[in-house]
Amino acid sequence: DPILEVQNLKKYFQMNRNETLKAVDGISFTLNEGETLGIVGESGCGKSTLGRTILGLYEKTEGNIRYKGKNYPQTKRDRFKLTKEMQMIFQDPYASLNPRSTVYDLIAEPMDIHGLYPNKKQRLHRIEELISEVGLTKEHLNRYPHEFSGGQRQRIGIARALALEPSLIIADEPISALDVSIQAQVVYLLKQLQKEKGLTFLFIAHDLSMVKYMSDRVGVMYLGQLVELTTSDKLYQHP
Ligand code: ADP
Ligand code: ADP
Repeated sequence: DPILEVQNLKKYFQMNRNETLKAVDGISFTLNEGETLGIVGESGCGKSTLGRTILGLYEKTEGNIRYKGKNYPQTKRDRFKLTKEMQMIFQDPYASLNPRSTVYDLIAEPMDIHGLYPNKKQRLHRIEELISEVGLTKEHLNRYPHEFSGGQRQRIGIARALALEPSLIIADEPISALDVSIQAQVVYLLKQLQKEKGLTFLFIAHDLSMVKYMSDRVGVMYLGQLVELTTSDKLYQHP
């Protein structure tokens, strides 16, 4: 079943009175439950904007987004409920994690916002579970983001994204800010989570090899448009 249907989606930025930047310019695709769709394309082609517009971080200019067969909510309040189901993993875990929050607080915050695990004991248990799922330990919970390596910080970001048990994860270049030597470890973790939890992923990257490894299908973006959409094994295969 389709979990996400994107129809002719457009996101334009008004740069000044005369100039409109068509960052996303008429994109359509369907993402099925449990599927991973990779989005690749050179820097500036609109990948991030696509992810952010789907998440509702940006107001769309035109087009339609359907989630689990329903039109995307128009009001902020209804969209808030959807944020529980859709989570983003960001490129730079250092920029996306509040440096003054402990790991515990970083994972507890989305739970607080959505009223999940109000019972302190159950919450701690769940947070310990989440932190071990991403390969860290409960001893890490009272530490701060700067005390971790880049790869560990991304693991914290992933635990935070998983805190609400989302069904769709938009990963926006989740490894490109990391040291090359640990990129594979984080991709392996994402792959494991994908298999174990049956998550649906939109996996944004500029690097094709990681995307091919993660994805069932790959879409290639160019100047705000999807110029190719095919299964990973067929990509760049010449007849
Ligand atoms: P990518 O993720 O593929 O690198 P982006 O989606 O970040 O591409 O950017 C696509 C284009 O939209 C770029 O020209 C970028 O400068 C522009 N852009 C992105 N976000 C904004 C914004 N908030 N306001 C104005 N322009 C933006
Ligand atoms: P990324 O492409 O990985 O999101 P950037 O450094 O390009 O990282 O962008 C950082 C932030 O600034 C993002 O929120 C992005 O959408 C926004 N942004 C990018 N380009 C522009 C732009 N031309 N004008 C305003 N905001 C922009």
